[in-house]
Amino acid sequence: MGSLHGAVALVTGASRGLGAAIAEELGRRGAKVVVNYSGSKEPAEKVAVEISEAEEGGDALTIQADISDPEDAKRLVDETVGRFGRIDILVNNAGINIDRTLKRLSLEEWYKVLQVDLNGCFHTVHAALPYMVEQAFGRIINMSSFVGEAGNVGQANYAAAKSGLFGFTKTAALELARYNITVNAISPGFIETEMVAAIPQSAKEKILEQIPLGRLGKPEEIAKAVRYVVEDADYMTGNVLDINGGVYMR
Ligand code: NAP
Repeated sequence: MGSLHGAVALVTGASRGLGAAIAEELGRRGAKVVVNYSGSKEPAEKVAVEISEAEEGGDALTIQADISDPEDAKRLVDETVGRFGRIDILVNNAGINIDRTLKRLSLEEWYKVLQVDLNGCFHTVHAALPYMVEQAFGRIINMSSFVGEAGNVGQANYAAAKSGLFGFTKTAALELARYNITVNAISPGFIETEMVAAIPQSAKEKILEQIPLGRLGKPEEIAKAVRYVVEDADYMTGNVLDINGGVYMR
């Protein structure tokens, strides 16, 4: 793609954590960014202001939408195109986790995580496809997790959703290559965000022992990988980038 100047990027779940870092990174490179959130209005607005005020920063605006709801996801994509005229980059970052061992996991908790983390990704892709096909251009990035590759005790629902994203990414890449739409996944390890802050301290110490690089990752380290994929990786599709400090190696 080369320069991101003027490119339109929709980042789901961008009010904090990885999504906020990704939105800011793309905005700093001159992209017009839609900062999506479901409930965290003020933090999302702060991210948008940060982008708009950055030197060389692009435009940014916030759009509230729950991507687990297909109609909301469609409205989000349609409003993105309505405001900025096109959609070049779709980063499916929004995600939740409800951790329980299988013995205690309720049906509702299973469905809820699958609905946001896996179905939500399909909802936005489904809505964005007609625009990207028409443009004959698109860069889709799906935020998976090393847990979808390795499994993790207490995360059957999350692991199933994140693992499902790998198959979805590869199939979408095969089907959409002819339209110059690439589809890739990023598979982070443990990154310093609120999602990881919620892990009890004793468990965090055990996690650190398992990470060869000896530390948690930073949101900016994932954001840089997203920038690489959209800016420089035109010949890459159907790929999974593991960015995990070595905690899991395929
Ligand atoms: P986070 O800090 O919990 O942030 C999640 C973001 O998703 C928030 O902006 C939240 O906004 C949004 N969101 C949640 N449900 C949504 C919905 N239904 N519709 C729209 N937005 C929604 O999470 P994070 O740690 O940055 O993780 C971001 C992504 O990376 C997730 O997909 C996660 O699974 C993945 N990941 C994270 C790690 C890690 O170590 N942190 C590792 C591997 C993969 P609201 O508050 O407005 O809902």
